[in-house]
Amino acid sequence: MGNPEDAEVYVLRLGHRPERDKRITTHVALVARAFGAHGFVLADVCDEHVMESIGKVLERWGGKMYLECGVPGRRYVREWKRRGGIAVHLTMYGLHVDDVIDEIRETAKPKLVIVGAEKVPRFFYEEADYNVAIGHQPHSEVAALAIFLDRLYMGMELHLSFPDAKVVVEPSARGKKVVKRG
Ligand code: SAM
Repeated sequence: MGNPEDAEVYVLRLGHRPERDKRITTHVALVARAFGAHGFVLADVCDEHVMESIGKVLERWGGKMYLECGVPGRRYVREWKRRGGIAVHLTMYGLHVDDVIDEIRETAKPKLVIVGAEKVPRFFYEEADYNVAIGHQPHSEVAALAIFLDRLYMGMELHLSFPDAKVVVEPSARGKKVVKRG
């Protein structure tokens, strides 16, 4: 339990506005990868800048995350559930993460973690199996996703390594050490 390999976890990013959200959406995707998600899906639009950025990180730092963009968000959620997965929408208005995370972790079903940008349409609150609050204060989709995945995996995701990485960090007390592989 709590191992990132246990069940598929995908992240669905809603409401991306290419003219202003490139950086933060890229960070959502980077957190998804680094914190153990298996897929990143950008709903409703394709932003080549975002998809290329995450693609380059996967290429260099490793990982096999599934990437998709431009799929209608509502249809994606319905289809995910129809195929037997659960949808977890992160929102400050939801139930406190501490009260639901064990139940979410214990289901073996694939999990779709939904994060928004601006106003999230009512549909997603209603369609979600869980509306989960990472505390009840407004903050950020990047922080919310990181903390949710960390709670889901109980910290184990911070020890993930990617066997196909071309470069890895060699931890050092000072300075920056990166070692090439293969
Ligand atoms: N007011 C917006 C709304 O109607 O949902 C929130 C916008 S917030 C900048 C962007 C996203 O960050 C939200 O859609 C949600 O996924 C996530 N988020 C922000 N604060 C959160 C919290 N306390 N708990 C869970 N998710 C949060």
